[in-house]
Amino acid sequence: MINHLQDKVILNNGIKIPGFGLGVFKVEAGATTYDTVRTALKLGYRLIDTAAIYGNEEAVGKAIHDSGIPREEIFVTSKVWNDDQGYEETLAAFDTTMEKLGLEYLDLYLIHWPITGKFKDTWRALEKIYRDGKVRSIGVSNFHVHHLEELLKDAEVKPVLNQIEYHPHLTQEDVLQFCKENAIQMQSWSPLKRGEIITEPVIKEIADKHGKTPAQIVLRWNLQNGVITIPKSVKEHRMQENADIFNFELTEDEMEKLNDLNKNERIGSNPDDF
Ligand code: NDP
Repeated sequence: MINHLQDKVILNNGIKIPGFGLGVFKVEAGATTYDTVRTALKLGYRLIDTAAIYGNEEAVGKAIHDSGIPREEIFVTSKVWNDDQGYEETLAAFDTTMEKLGLEYLDLYLIHWPITGKFKDTWRALEKIYRDGKVRSIGVSNFHVHHLEELLKDAEVKPVLNQIEYHPHLTQEDVLQFCKENAIQMQSWSPLKRGEIITEPVIKEIADKHGKTPAQIVLRWNLQNGVITIPKSVKEHRMQENADIFNFELTEDEMEKLNDLNKNERIGSNPDDF
Protein backbone atom coordinates (compact mmCIF):
# COMPACT_ATOMS: atom_id res chain seq x y z
CA MET A 1 0.00 0.00 0.00
CA ILE A 2 1.55 3.28 -1.06
CA ASN A 3 1.30 6.44 1.05
CA HIS A 4 2.60 9.08 -1.34
CA LEU A 5 2.31 9.91 -5.04
CA GLN A 6 5.91 8.89 -5.61
CA ASP A 7 5.90 5.71 -3.51
CA LYS A 8 6.77 2.60 -5.43
CA VAL A 9 5.67 -0.99 -5.69
CA ILE A 10 8.18 -3.77 -6.41
CA LEU A 11 7.45 -5.88 -9.49
CA ASN A 12 8.24 -9.61 -9.71
CA ASN A 13 11.60 -8.90 -11.39
CA GLY A 14 12.68 -6.50 -8.63
CA ILE A 15 12.03 -3.34 -10.65
CA LYS A 16 10.14 -0.58 -8.82
CA ILE A 17 7.10 1.14 -10.33
CA PRO A 18 5.27 4.16 -8.92
CA GLY A 19 1.97 3.05 -7.39
CA PHE A 20 -0.02 5.78 -9.14
CA GLY A 21 0.33 7.48 -12.53
CA LEU A 22 -1.08 9.39 -15.48
CA GLY A 23 -2.57 7.86 -18.63
CA VAL A 24 -2.51 9.78 -21.91
CA PHE A 25 -5.00 7.91 -24.09
CA LYS A 26 -6.96 10.38 -26.26
CA VAL A 27 -4.67 13.24 -25.31
CA GLU A 28 -4.01 15.04 -28.56
CA ALA A 29 -0.49 14.56 -29.92
CA GLY A 30 1.87 17.53 -29.91
CA ALA A 31 1.41 20.54 -27.64
CA THR A 32 -1.52 19.16 -25.61
CA THR A 33 0.33 15.96 -24.70
CA TYR A 34 3.54 17.89 -24.08
CA ASP A 35 1.83 20.35 -21.71
CA THR A 36 -0.16 17.59 -19.98
CA VAL A 37 2.93 15.51 -19.22
CA ARG A 38 4.94 18.56 -18.14
CA THR A 39 2.12 19.57 -15.75
CA ALA A 40 1.81 16.05 -14.33
CA LEU A 41 5.56 15.83 -13.70
CA LYS A 42 5.49 19.25 -12.06
CA LEU A 43 2.73 18.03 -9.73
CA GLY A 44 4.84 15.03 -8.75
CA TYR A 45 3.50 12.29 -11.04
CA ARG A 46 6.31 9.89 -11.96
CA LEU A 47 4.52 7.24 -14.04
CA ILE A 48 3.37 8.03 -17.57
CA ASP A 49 1.34 5.50 -19.55
CA THR A 50 1.30 5.83 -23.33
CA ALA A 51 1.02 3.44 -26.31
CA ALA A 52 2.01 3.38 -29.96
CA ILE A 53 -1.66 3.64 -30.99
CA TYR A 54 -2.17 6.84 -28.96
CA GLY A 55 0.06 8.64 -31.49
CA ASN A 56 1.57 10.85 -28.78
CA GLU A 57 4.81 9.06 -27.84
CA GLU A 58 6.93 11.80 -29.37
CA ALA A 59 5.42 14.54 -27.20
CA VAL A 60 5.62 12.30 -24.11
CA GLY A 61 9.34 11.77 -24.69
CA LYS A 62 10.01 15.43 -25.32
CA ALA A 63 8.13 16.48 -22.17
CA ILE A 64 10.16 14.01 -20.11
CA HIS A 65 13.39 15.20 -21.65
CA ASP A 66 12.60 18.89 -21.13
CA SER A 67 11.37 18.39 -17.54
CA GLY A 68 14.94 18.23 -16.27
CA ILE A 69 13.92 15.40 -13.93
CA PRO A 70 16.52 12.61 -14.01
CA ARG A 71 15.38 9.89 -16.41
CA GLU A 72 15.63 7.18 -13.75
CA GLU A 73 13.06 8.97 -11.59
CA ILE A 74 10.36 8.66 -14.25
CA PHE A 75 8.65 5.40 -15.18
CA VAL A 76 7.48 5.20 -18.81
CA THR A 77 5.15 2.55 -20.19
CA SER A 78 4.30 1.95 -23.84
CA LYS A 79 2.49 -0.83 -25.69
CA VAL A 80 2.75 -2.74 -28.94
CA TRP A 81 -0.39 -2.29 -31.05
CA ASN A 82 -2.43 -5.18 -32.46
CA ASP A 83 -1.40 -4.70 -36.12
CA ASP A 84 2.26 -5.00 -35.11
CA GLN A 85 1.94 -8.31 -33.28
CA GLY A 86 4.12 -11.28 -34.23
CA TYR A 87 7.84 -11.74 -33.53
CA GLU A 88 9.60 -9.66 -36.19
CA GLU A 89 6.79 -7.10 -36.36
CA THR A 90 7.02 -6.45 -32.62
CA LEU A 91 10.80 -6.03 -32.69
CA ALA A 92 10.33 -3.40 -35.41
CA ALA A 93 7.42 -1.73 -33.59
CA PHE A 94 9.54 -1.44 -30.45
CA ASP A 95 12.30 0.33 -32.39
CA THR A 96 9.75 2.79 -33.77
CA THR A 97 8.38 3.45 -30.28
CA MET A 98 11.87 4.13 -28.95
CA GLU A 99 12.66 6.41 -31.86
CA LYS A 100 9.50 8.40 -31.20
CA LEU A 101 10.03 8.59 -27.45
CA GLY A 102 13.67 9.53 -27.97
CA LEU A 103 14.61 7.74 -24.74
CA GLU A 104 17.59 5.46 -24.07
CA TYR A 105 15.43 2.79 -22.52
CA LEU A 106 11.80 2.05 -21.66
CA ASP A 107 10.59 1.00 -18.20
CA LEU A 108 7.69 -1.20 -19.23
CA TYR A 109 6.53 -2.55 -22.59
CA LEU A 110 3.13 -4.21 -22.80
CA ILE A 111 1.22 -6.35 -25.28
CA HIS A 112 -1.76 -4.03 -25.73
CA TRP A 113 -4.37 -6.74 -26.44
CA PRO A 114 -4.12 -10.55 -26.57
CA ILE A 115 -4.43 -11.20 -30.30
CA THR A 116 -5.33 -14.86 -30.77
CA GLY A 117 -2.67 -16.87 -32.57
CA LYS A 118 -0.14 -14.08 -32.23
CA PHE A 119 0.35 -13.01 -28.65
CA LYS A 120 2.80 -15.79 -27.82
CA ASP A 121 5.11 -14.78 -30.70
CA THR A 122 4.73 -11.18 -29.59
CA TRP A 123 5.74 -12.25 -26.09
CA ARG A 124 8.91 -13.96 -27.42
CA ALA A 125 9.84 -10.63 -29.01
CA LEU A 126 9.27 -8.83 -25.71
CA GLU A 127 11.47 -11.41 -23.99
CA LYS A 128 14.25 -10.69 -26.49
CA ILE A 129 13.94 -6.92 -26.04
CA TYR A 130 14.04 -7.46 -22.27
CA ARG A 131 17.10 -9.72 -22.42
CA ASP A 132 18.82 -7.21 -24.67
CA GLY A 133 18.40 -4.65 -21.89
CA LYS A 134 16.30 -2.19 -23.90
CA VAL A 135 13.35 -2.38 -21.51
CA ARG A 136 13.42 -2.83 -17.73
CA SER A 137 10.27 -4.92 -17.56
CA ILE A 138 7.65 -6.52 -19.80
CA GLY A 139 3.98 -7.21 -19.27
CA VAL A 140 0.55 -7.55 -20.79
CA SER A 141 -2.73 -5.70 -21.05
CA ASN A 142 -6.31 -6.86 -21.38
CA PHE A 143 -5.43 -10.47 -20.56
CA HIS A 144 -8.18 -12.63 -19.10
CA VAL A 145 -7.17 -15.55 -16.88
CA HIS A 146 -7.23 -17.96 -19.83
CA HIS A 147 -4.87 -15.69 -21.82
CA LEU A 148 -2.48 -15.53 -18.86
CA GLU A 149 -2.58 -19.31 -18.42
CA GLU A 150 -1.83 -19.79 -22.11
CA LEU A 151 1.05 -17.31 -21.99
CA LEU A 152 2.57 -18.76 -18.82
CA LYS A 153 2.73 -22.25 -20.39
CA ASP A 154 5.71 -21.25 -22.54
CA ALA A 155 6.89 -17.92 -21.17
CA GLU A 156 10.53 -17.82 -20.16
CA VAL A 157 10.06 -14.42 -18.57
CA LYS A 158 6.94 -13.91 -16.47
CA PRO A 159 4.90 -10.76 -17.16
CA VAL A 160 5.37 -8.24 -14.36
CA LEU A 161 1.97 -6.64 -14.77
CA ASN A 162 -1.47 -6.92 -16.38
CA GLN A 163 -3.25 -3.67 -17.24
CA ILE A 164 -7.01 -4.14 -17.53
CA GLU A 165 -10.22 -2.14 -17.41
CA TYR A 166 -11.11 -1.90 -13.74
CA HIS A 167 -13.58 0.24 -11.81
CA PRO A 168 -16.48 -0.43 -9.42
CA HIS A 169 -18.75 -1.49 -12.32
CA LEU A 170 -16.15 -4.00 -13.56
CA THR A 171 -14.14 -5.52 -10.74
CA GLN A 172 -12.78 -8.59 -12.60
CA GLU A 173 -12.26 -10.49 -9.34
CA ASP A 174 -11.03 -13.60 -11.16
CA VAL A 175 -8.23 -11.70 -12.92
CA LEU A 176 -7.30 -9.83 -9.75
CA GLN A 177 -7.12 -13.09 -7.79
CA PHE A 178 -5.08 -14.87 -10.46
CA CYS A 179 -2.64 -11.98 -10.70
CA LYS A 180 -2.20 -11.85 -6.93
CA GLU A 181 -1.53 -15.60 -6.79
CA ASN A 182 1.01 -15.35 -9.58
CA ALA A 183 2.82 -12.18 -8.44
CA ILE A 184 1.60 -10.26 -11.48
CA GLN A 185 0.83 -6.65 -10.54
CA MET A 186 -2.62 -5.42 -11.55
CA GLN A 187 -3.00 -2.00 -13.11
CA SER A 188 -6.32 -0.39 -13.94
CA TRP A 189 -7.28 1.46 -17.07
CA SER A 190 -10.35 3.71 -17.26
CA PRO A 191 -10.45 3.70 -13.45
CA LEU A 192 -13.07 6.47 -13.59
CA LYS A 193 -14.98 4.66 -16.36
CA ARG A 194 -14.10 7.80 -18.37
CA GLY A 195 -16.04 9.97 -15.93
CA GLU A 196 -19.19 7.81 -15.78
CA ILE A 197 -18.52 6.23 -12.39
CA ILE A 198 -18.53 9.49 -10.45
CA THR A 199 -22.31 9.87 -10.72
CA GLU A 200 -22.94 6.65 -8.73
CA PRO A 201 -24.98 7.65 -5.62
CA VAL A 202 -23.23 5.13 -3.32
CA ILE A 203 -19.87 6.61 -4.26
CA LYS A 204 -21.15 10.16 -3.80
CA GLU A 205 -22.37 9.25 -0.32
CA ILE A 206 -18.99 7.80 0.71
CA ALA A 207 -17.27 10.84 -0.81
CA ASP A 208 -19.39 13.24 1.25
CA LYS A 209 -18.55 11.33 4.42
CA HIS A 210 -14.82 11.76 3.81
CA GLY A 211 -15.02 15.29 2.41
CA LYS A 212 -13.55 13.90 -0.82
CA THR A 213 -14.75 13.76 -4.43
CA PRO A 214 -16.23 10.60 -5.99
CA ALA A 215 -13.17 10.34 -8.27
CA GLN A 216 -10.89 10.33 -5.21
CA ILE A 217 -12.97 7.58 -3.60
CA VAL A 218 -12.71 5.35 -6.65
CA LEU A 219 -8.97 5.92 -7.03
CA ARG A 220 -8.40 5.26 -3.33
CA TRP A 221 -10.42 2.03 -3.68
CA ASN A 222 -7.97 1.00 -6.42
CA LEU A 223 -4.99 1.56 -4.12
CA GLN A 224 -6.54 -0.27 -1.18
CA ASN A 225 -7.22 -3.22 -3.50
CA GLY A 226 -3.52 -3.28 -4.45
CA VAL A 227 -4.18 -2.02 -7.96
CA ILE A 228 -1.97 0.64 -9.57
CA THR A 229 -4.14 3.20 -11.27
CA ILE A 230 -3.46 5.63 -14.13
CA PRO A 231 -6.37 8.09 -14.47
CA LYS A 232 -6.18 10.44 -17.43
CA SER A 233 -6.78 14.15 -17.29
CA VAL A 234 -5.52 17.08 -19.31
CA LYS A 235 -6.64 19.49 -16.60
CA GLU A 236 -4.22 20.51 -13.88
CA HIS A 237 -6.87 20.83 -11.16
CA ARG A 238 -8.11 17.31 -11.88
CA MET A 239 -4.60 15.83 -11.96
CA GLN A 240 -4.17 17.41 -8.55
CA GLU A 241 -7.53 16.14 -7.32
CA ASN A 242 -6.86 12.60 -8.57
CA ALA A 243 -3.51 12.43 -6.82
CA ASP A 244 -4.82 13.79 -3.52
CA ILE A 245 -5.81 10.43 -2.08
CA PHE A 246 -3.15 9.73 0.50
CA ASN A 247 -4.67 11.46 3.51
CA PHE A 248 -7.72 9.27 4.19
CA GLU A 249 -8.71 5.61 4.31
CA LEU A 250 -11.82 3.73 3.24
CA THR A 251 -13.25 1.40 5.85
CA GLU A 252 -13.73 -2.30 5.15
CA ASP A 253 -17.45 -1.67 4.92
CA GLU A 254 -16.96 1.10 2.35
CA MET A 255 -14.59 -1.10 0.35
CA GLU A 256 -17.30 -3.78 0.32
CA LYS A 257 -19.95 -1.29 -0.79
CA LEU A 258 -17.72 -0.28 -3.72
CA ASN A 259 -16.96 -3.91 -4.62
CA ASP A 260 -20.70 -4.62 -4.55
CA LEU A 261 -21.34 -2.09 -7.33
CA ASN A 262 -19.86 -4.57 -9.81
CA LYS A 263 -22.14 -5.36 -12.76
CA ASN A 264 -19.50 -6.62 -15.20
CA GLU A 265 -20.12 -3.54 -17.30
CA ARG A 266 -17.37 -2.36 -19.63
CA ILE A 267 -16.67 1.04 -21.15
CA GLY A 268 -14.16 -0.56 -23.52
CA SER A 269 -14.03 -3.82 -25.48
CA ASN A 270 -14.06 -7.31 -24.07
CA PRO A 271 -10.64 -8.81 -24.88
CA ASP A 272 -12.39 -11.99 -26.07
CA ASP A 273 -14.21 -10.08 -28.84
CA PHE A 274 -11.57 -7.58 -29.83
P1 NDP B 1 -10.35 7.46 -17.16
O1 NDP B 1 -11.26 6.58 -16.41
O2 NDP B 1 -9.01 7.77 -16.62
O3 NDP B 1 -11.17 8.78 -17.42
C1 NDP B 1 -10.66 9.86 -18.14
C2 NDP B 1 -11.80 10.83 -18.35
O4 NDP B 1 -12.28 11.30 -17.10
C3 NDP B 1 -11.37 12.04 -19.13
O5 NDP B 1 -12.48 12.42 -19.94
C4 NDP B 1 -11.11 13.11 -18.07
O6 NDP B 1 -11.40 14.38 -18.60
C5 NDP B 1 -12.10 12.72 -16.99
N1 NDP B 1 -11.61 12.96 -15.62
C6 NDP B 1 -10.36 12.78 -15.13
N2 NDP B 1 -10.30 13.07 -13.83
C7 NDP B 1 -11.53 13.46 -13.46
C8 NDP B 1 -12.09 13.90 -12.24
N3 NDP B 1 -11.36 13.98 -11.14
N4 NDP B 1 -13.41 14.22 -12.23
C9 NDP B 1 -14.15 14.13 -13.35
N5 NDP B 1 -13.68 13.72 -14.53
C10 NDP B 1 -12.38 13.39 -14.59
O7 NDP B 1 -10.23 6.84 -18.64
P2 NDP B 1 -9.08 6.45 -19.67
O8 NDP B 1 -9.74 5.61 -20.65
O9 NDP B 1 -8.35 7.62 -20.15
O10 NDP B 1 -8.09 5.51 -18.82
C11 NDP B 1 -6.92 5.96 -18.17
C12 NDP B 1 -5.67 5.51 -18.90
O11 NDP B 1 -5.63 4.10 -19.01
C13 NDP B 1 -5.60 5.97 -20.36
O12 NDP B 1 -5.28 7.33 -20.49
C14 NDP B 1 -4.57 5.03 -20.90
O13 NDP B 1 -3.26 5.44 -20.55
C15 NDP B 1 -4.95 3.73 -20.21
N6 NDP B 1 -5.84 2.90 -21.06
C16 NDP B 1 -5.37 1.68 -21.46
C17 NDP B 1 -6.13 0.85 -22.23
C18 NDP B 1 -5.60 -0.46 -22.63
O14 NDP B 1 -6.21 -1.12 -23.48
N7 NDP B 1 -4.51 -0.91 -22.08
C19 NDP B 1 -7.47 1.25 -22.71
C20 NDP B 1 -7.89 2.54 -22.22
C21 NDP B 1 -7.10 3.30 -21.42
P3 NDP B 1 -10.31 15.58 -18.68
O15 NDP B 1 -9.10 15.07 -19.37
O16 NDP B 1 -11.03 16.63 -19.44
O17 NDP B 1 -10.05 15.97 -17.25
